[in-house]
Amino acid sequence: RPSIPRPMATRTFVVANQKGGVGKTTSTVNVAAGLAQLGQRVLVIDLDPQGNASTALSIDHFQGTPGTYELLVDGTPLGDVVVPSPEIPGLDVVPATIDLAGAEIELVSVVAREGRLQKALRAHPRVGDAETAGEDRWDYIFIDCPPSLGLLTINALVAGAELLIPIQAEYYALEGLGQLLKTVDMVRAHLNPDLAVSTILVTMYDGRTRLAAGVAEEVKSHFGDQVLRTYIPRSVRVSEAPSYGQTVMTYDPGSPGALSYLEAAREIASKGMSR
Ligand code: ADP
Ligand code: MG
Repeated sequence: RPSIPRPMATRTFVVANQKGGVGKTTSTVNVAAGLAQLGQRVLVIDLDPQGNASTALSIDHFQGTPGTYELLVDGTPLGDVVVPSPEIPGLDVVPATIDLAGAEIELVSVVAREGRLQKALRAHPRVGDAETAGEDRWDYIFIDCPPSLGLLTINALVAGAELLIPIQAEYYALEGLGQLLKTVDMVRAHLNPDLAVSTILVTMYDGRTRLAAGVAEEVKSHFGDQVLRTYIPRSVRVSEAPSYGQTVMTYDPGSPGALSYLEAAREIASKGMSR
């Protein structure tokens, strides 16, 4: 495996956008796989009851499989619900089952309900810096959020330090982002002062259309340096991969989608180094 320098401590990304179908899950699994290919130790936490990230990473998530539901609602330790990826060395996954659909309601009566995921992460020996977590530490954690701003997404925003917002390069792309950013401000003020909107990723970009270019420009004028220079092109190979239980990184490593995700992974890693 080619390798790049490891960050000094675990970097935890929340992949969120309350709009569905913008590329949250696709970006989570492919950036995570890209970083694993670059020699990093990576954990993906599937926080969407649909379990699409689990499917794409070929992890069992039939009802009753221990995963994020047990972590959040029952307080099961993270170590008991992590599964190594069968395909990608260096990548671990916490699967989500349909049970998680009930968690949004069940968590309402749980003590410190917004901080359940944060607590679980902090308690795990592989989360931290070289001194506290050692060589075996996870370098990156990606939390794939559901398309809503409920307690599941709030748990992710409290647990993470960096927000990664995938934005689909199409009309109305920025609509609804105000609500997400307001939620981020609320979380920062009351629950997690460390949270930063660090990364914007333009997805499903079709360079042949003026609309896509216009949207990307608009995104850049809003978010500036936070926008990755790499845009992810719209590509059939990217959308086919999950039906084979694969990321596009393993399904078709030479395809434009895979190369772009690898480049995005490199950019994310190098931006962290200069911070
Ligand atoms: P979200 O998690 O935000 O709901 P997904 O990652 O599931 O979004 O993507 C929504 C749909 O778009 C999926 O069918 C996915 O395969 C497809 N898709 C995502 N990225 C691309 C891309 N770059 N090219 C083509 N299809 C894509
Ligand atoms: Mg999704």
